[in-house]
Parts: sequence; structure tokens; C-alpha cells
Amino acid sequence: MKPCRVAIIGAGPAGLAAALFLSRAGHGIELIERFDAPAPVGSGLMLQPTGLTVLDTLGLGAAIHAAGNRIDRLYGADATSGRAVLDVRYDAGPGGRYGLAVHRAALFTVLHDAVAALHLPITTGCHVTGARENADGVFLSCAEGEERGPYDLVIDASGARSALAAGSAVAPSVRDLAYGAFWTTVEHAEGHFDTHALTQRYDQARVMIGVLPVGRLSADSPARAAFFWSVKVGEADEVRRRGLDRWKVDVLGYWPACAPLLDQVQDWEQLTLARYMHRTMATPHSGRLVFVGDSFHSTSPQLGQGANMALLDVAALAHALERHDDLGQALASYAAARRTHVRLFQMLSLMFTPFYQSDSAALAWLRDRLVATIARVPPAPWLLASIVSGTLVDPFEAAGLRECRWLERGG
Ligand SMILES: Cc1cc2nc3c(=O)[nH]c(=O)nc-3n(C[C@H](O)[C@H](O)[C@H](O)COP(=O)(O)OP(=O)(O)OC[C@H]3O[C@@H](n4cnc5c(N)ncnc54)[C@H](O)[C@@H]3O)c2cc1C
Repeated sequence: MKPCRVAIIGAGPAGLAAALFLSRAGHGIELIERFDAPAPVGSGLMLQPTGLTVLDTLGLGAAIHAAGNRIDRLYGADATSGRAVLDVRYDAGPGGRYGLAVHRAALFTVLHDAVAALHLPITTGCHVTGARENADGVFLSCAEGEERGPYDLVIDASGARSALAAGSAVAPSVRDLAYGAFWTTVEHAEGHFDTHALTQRYDQARVMIGVLPVGRLSADSPARAAFFWSVKVGEADEVRRRGLDRWKVDVLGYWPACAPLLDQVQDWEQLTLARYMHRTMATPHSGRLVFVGDSFHSTSPQLGQGANMALLDVAALAHALERHDDLGQALASYAAARRTHVRLFQMLSLMFTPFYQSDSAALAWLRDRLVATIARVPPAPWLLASIVSGTLVDPFEAAGLRECRWLERGG
């Protein structure tokens, strides 16, 4: 496609990666971010072989590995009996795959530094509220009163609460999930937890506690871990009202090893309440407006796929724009490239989440007895490794990507 004027709304993982891919293809880029200074929001996340492949394609593989912590296993146990409930190992699948846990700030810095190195323009302090299209292109209106444009293409990477997605002809239906989680980042208590595992404890599906070692923000800073505690969003205020000490007693009652992590939490301000919603657009484009990342699809982070799927979306969009002269055909080709993978993983997230976050004693019983047993019988370990890796169906070819050679990289 001929070089065109592209506005990208949102400087999250999807927006920053889109800027890198499309500037590389020669398009004129303007990144628009609502915050005065673009910044990461939140704690840690898991990069899967999918997202890592996209970052590697952008030439950022070494930088992200330097900032992250290799994860080989997801391990969860019943808090009372100690019985293993979840044990997924990446190496049950082929090729030496692994995950990489990172602090959000590390992912943001790696992408943002690459954008800054190319001197791509970022307009900050501009909260986009709407878009209108005419023969000249798309114009964006901002809460601050100005109108920007025209653009030949607008990429909406403004996340799960996108106003453009909600106001578009292809608006998704939205379901708020009852359970969210308190998240924080603390210094990692080495020796108390497996550094190369995401470790969890459960009591039925009402209690889920997790520790994810996320590496160091810089070579001379301490190793960190993301800590989360599942909570019903409607009960979060009551938990806060009862006080931090009471909450710590509850957590330690389930998992005493968390004491050195909780000792670092002195104030509710250190804990962010993350709310989850489930939504998928049937068609991720409308006119000259295209949706990527959480604005296209979002769900609970149970399978740890959201940021990875956002990176895959952007790679697939860049690939489609490269292969077609006509914008309409390119956007249709992007939608087709992502359809199966997005639908499958949205469905799996919706299916798995209630086993870990719900009021259902029956689902928790099934998880602990039946699923935990079946999960040990081939081909279930391979299947689970493929789900966690994001590779249950091939997401690479349609996005024009070749998967990293993990064994050569070595983590
Ligand atoms: C607690 C939690 C844990 C998670 N764990 C994982 C995990 O382990 N692995 C994983 O892959 N994913 C995980 N996710 C999901 C992941 O965070 C998201 O899928 C990912 O951040 C989506 O990236 P994005 O760029 O599409 O959107 P976002 O990261 O939401 O970025 C959107 C950007 O747009 C800006 N913006 C928003 N509205 C406007 C506007 N109107 N105008 C201008 N700018 C705007 C925002 O300020 C932000 O910078 C987790 C999510 C949560 C909440």
C-alpha cells in the first residue's frame, strides 16, 4: 500500500508496536495518548511465545529478555490440602518454548525507547472522544476541544474502554466480570517461591492468590514479583474497610510463605483493583477505522494472552497493509487473519475463568478432582502447554511471522 497518514490512538503495547511496524513500512505516523506523559499502568504480565515472536520481529528480543524473567511452569495448589490442581509446563509442547514475565514498565520502556529512537511523533494530553469520516479522511475529536486530521487510517489501540469502539458501527457487546483482583508489585522473596514459575494457591474458586516473579527493571535494581489476590469487585470496598491487617491475616491463613511479600505492603494505595470485562468485536474495522488489542477483544487475564494477542493483531495488520493496495481489502484481510485465533482464545478464557474465579463450588470440585487428573494424561499436558503458549492454532503464518527458534535463543 502507498504510504498514508496514520493516527494511532493509545500508547499501550498495541499502539507502540503499531507505530514501529507501520513507520517501518513507510507510513506517516502520529501516536495520540490521553496522558500528559505516556506511562504503563499496572503490575506484571506474561509474554508468551506469540508476543515474544512479535517483539523479536521488531528487533526487540534481546531488550525484552534482558528486562524479563523466564517462566517454565504454571503451578497451582489447593491452599488447604496442598494438592496440585494446575501444573502446566511449557516444555510439554515442542520446540523449547517458554514464557517471559515482565513488569509492565519494562515492556513499555522497551517499546517506547524504540519509538523514541525513530523520533516518531507522540501527541500527549489528547483524550480522543470521537471520529468522523468524509472524503478527505478521518477527523478525530478530543475532549480538550480540538479536532485532528484528516488521516487516511485510524488505528484504535485505546484499550478495553475504547470510546471509539463503543461508538462505532461494529461495537462489541460488553460483559463485566464479577471477579477482578488486587495487584501489586513487591521485591521478590527469593527462596520462598520458584523463580521460574507462576505459582498460585486456591480455595475453591472464590480464593486465588498468585505470585509471578517479573525480573528487574534495571540491572542494579532488585528482582521483583507481581502479587495478586482475586476479589469480587462488588466486595472490594468491604475488604478495604475491614483493613489491611485483616486482609493480610486472610492471605497468610491460606499461604504463609507470602509473609515477606505482604510485609512490604503498608497501604491500600499500593494495591490496584483490576476489573475485568469480556468483549469481542465480530468485525474489527469500520470505514477507515481499525481496532487492535484490547479495543478489539478483552477478557480476564486467566490465560495471560491479552498483550500477546495485541502484539499479534498489530503484526497481522501491518502484514495485511503490506500485501494490499486497497485499504478495504487490507482491513478485511487483517480481520480474516486474526479471526480464528481471537475467537478460540476468547472462548477458552470465558470457559476457564469460572474454574478459578467464581462462586461455583461444583466447578472448583471438578477442577480439583477431574481436570487435575485428566491434565496429567497425554495429550493433555501438550494441549495445556499449547493453550498457555497461545499456539493451539497457528497464529504466526496469517500474521506474516515466523516463530522464534526457542532452543537456539535459550531464554
Ligand atoms: C491485572 C491484569 C493482568 C494481566 N496479565 C496479562 C498477562 O499476564 N499477559 C497478557 O498478555 N496480558 C495480560 N493482561 C492484559 C493486557 O494488559 C492487555 O491485553 C494489554 O495491555 C492490551 O494492550 P493495549 O495496548 O491494547 O491496551 P492498553 O494497554 O489498555 O493501552 C491503551 C492505551 O490507550 C490510552 N488511551 C485510552 N483511551 C484513550 C483515549 N480516549 N484517547 C487517547 N489515549 C487513550 C491509554 O492511556 C493507554 O496508554 C492483563 C491485564 C490485567 C488488567
